[in-house]
Amino acid sequence: MKLITLLSNTSSALALLTLASLTGIAQAQTAAELAAMTDAERIKLSEKTEVWEPVPAIVTAAPQTAPSDALVLLDTNLSQWQSINGGKAPWSIQDGVLTVTPGSGDITSTASFCDIQLHMEWRTPAAFGDKKGQLRNNSGIFLQQRYEIQILDSYNNPTYPNGQAASVYKQTIPLVNASRAPGEWQTYDIIYRAPRFSGEQLISPGYITVLHNGVLVQNHVEIQGTTEWIGAPKYQAHGCAPLQLQDHGDAVSFRNIWVRSL
Ligand code: MG
Repeated sequence: MKLITLLSNTSSALALLTLASLTGIAQAQTAAELAAMTDAERIKLSEKTEVWEPVPAIVTAAPQTAPSDALVLLDTNLSQWQSINGGKAPWSIQDGVLTVTPGSGDITSTASFCDIQLHMEWRTPAAFGDKKGQLRNNSGIFLQQRYEIQILDSYNNPTYPNGQAASVYKQTIPLVNASRAPGEWQTYDIIYRAPRFSGEQLISPGYITVLHNGVLVQNHVEIQGTTEWIGAPKYQAHGCAPLQLQDHGDAVSFRNIWVRSL
């Protein structure tokens, strides 16, 4: 906000003091000093807190499509993925839909990432038989191969909430259950800040924000360490690392995965 605009609306000393304290500008100036200045002098002062660089790059985005500066990880082929055991990703892909081949093992991105924005779409099978709880079509996306955001059919399927869809597995329960019915496509939009290490020591934990089907379910929550099935989370120093999709023995499908390094 330009100071001159506010000044034209009010001349009270209180407003000047409030503005000065809010913006951090002119802390050395008293209200009287500010009031005594010319408009040009006040504008000059206001410019001290304007930050002009870096100028954010212009990008374009339409709903559900990758922004122009994103790396597309999954569209019609598996060239960006490999088996966790090395070699070709052993899952099936048809018309842009990737499906877990149960029992074949997890797959990872060929590229490594640190801080990212990630978009992905996933779908659990419409028919689930008598599967329930954690066994009702489970998968997951691991950030940096360590920190799992759970993928699960959590539509009318009670389980421990810190293990339901969109949980930071065994750490943070989602704020709400935004799950769609099995067989429907669902989206995760994830903003991830990787943990920082100095040597072996943790300097700052990771943080994650997740929107599930457009609904905020994880609001900049702290990641406590690796998402363990058994035992407590722990941190062990690491650098940038791939994304990993989980083979939990269920034919969960994926499409339209893209990532922006931050
Ligand atoms: Mg899982």
